[in-house]
Amino acid sequence: MTQRFSFELTATDGGARTGVISTPRGEIRTPAFMPVGTAGTVKAMLPESVRATGADILLGNTYHLMLRPTAERVARLGGLHRFMNWERPILTDSGGFQVMSLADLRKLTEEGVTFRSHIDGSKHHLSPERSMEIQRLLGSDIVMAFDECPALPASEAAVATSMRLSMRWAERSRDAFGDRPGHALFGIMQGGVTRELREESAEALTAIGFEGYAIGGLAVGEGQEAMFGVLDYAPGFLPEDRPRYLMGVGKPDDIVGAVERGVDMMDCVLPSRSGRTGQAWTRRGQVNIKNARHMDDPRPLDEACTCPCCRTYSRAYLHHVFRAQEIIASMLLTWHNLHYYQDLMQGLRAAISDGRLAAFVAQFHAQRAEGDIEPL
Ligand SMILES: [Zn+2]
Repeated sequence: MTQRFSFELTATDGGARTGVISTPRGEIRTPAFMPVGTAGTVKAMLPESVRATGADILLGNTYHLMLRPTAERVARLGGLHRFMNWERPILTDSGGFQVMSLADLRKLTEEGVTFRSHIDGSKHHLSPERSMEIQRLLGSDIVMAFDECPALPASEAAVATSMRLSMRWAERSRDAFGDRPGHALFGIMQGGVTRELREESAEALTAIGFEGYAIGGLAVGEGQEAMFGVLDYAPGFLPEDRPRYLMGVGKPDDIVGAVERGVDMMDCVLPSRSGRTGQAWTRRGQVNIKNARHMDDPRPLDEACTCPCCRTYSRAYLHHVFRAQEIIASMLLTWHNLHYYQDLMQGLRAAISDGRLAAFVAQFHAQRAEGDIEPL
C-alpha cells in the first residue's frame, strides 16, 4: 500500500471528475461522500456498518473532540482511528466553523479565537497552530486549515476582511502542519458569493500550496441557486490535479449538482441526522416514515435498495418502531440513508467513467419527480 498521499484523476465528463485519492490507510474513490462522525461515532451506526454502506472515509469534528474527550486523551489511547474502531481514512475539520457559530461566546483576534464550551462553559483557545496540533493528536489523515467563516448575511467588505484573515491563517496552518508524509493538509477557499474574492482566495491558497482545496463558506443558508452560482466558476480557480472538497453539502440534489460542477468530496450530517427523525432519502425523493399512510404498507422503503433495512423490514415496521420510539428505528433509517447516499456516489462515479453523466442525472431527477408511493 502507498505511504504517500496522492490523487489520480481517472475520467472526466463535462465539468465532472472521477478519480482515486490514495493514503496509507486506504483509497478514497471520488466523488466521495463522507459520513459525519462528530464525536467519534456516526450516530446509531457501528463502524463496520458504515463501511458496508460503501464509505471510504469519515469526518470527525475537532471542536467536539477537543472539548470531550480531548485530543490529548485520544492520542494517549492510540489516536482517533483506534479509539473509534475505524481504520480507514479520517478527515477532521479545523474547529473554525463550529467556533464561529458560537457567536456571543467567542472572541476573535488576529492570533485566533477564545471561546466558551457549549458543554460546561469552560474557556478554550483555537488558533491555526493549536488546530494543527489537535488534528495531529487525533491522527487525522486529511487535516483542514484553520479558517474563519463569516455568518451570513454579511457585507462584501466584511466577507473580504474575513477571507483575508483566513488566508493569513492558511499560511500559518501550512507552517504549523510541517512535513508529515502520508498526511494531507487542505486549504479552504472563502469569499462568499463574490467571484473576485473567490479568485483572490484561490490565488492566495495555491501560492501557499496544499494537497487539496476546500470550497468553504457555502451551504450556510445562501440557497441552492446561489451555491450553484459560485460552483459554476469557483472549482475552475483551483488546481486540476488536486481534490476539491465542498464542505457541509448536502441534500442528494445538491450533491449531484456539485459533482456536475467538478466537486470531488462532500460531507453532511443530513443522512444520519434525518435518519434519527424518521426522514428517509430514496430514489423517489424524501419519505416521512412516521406518516400514517405507511402504517399498513408491507413494502420496503425502496424496492431497489439493497441495504439491510430495505431487504428485511417493511414500511409498516419502520413506521411502528418510530412511533414507539425504539432505538432500532434510528439504526435502520440511518443505515438506509447512508446506503442510499453511497449508492448515489457509486452511480455518479460509474456514470462519469462511462461518459454518461447527463443521462444519469436526467434519470435521477425523473425518478424524484415521479414521487414516492406507487399504488399497491
Ligand atoms: Zn435501503
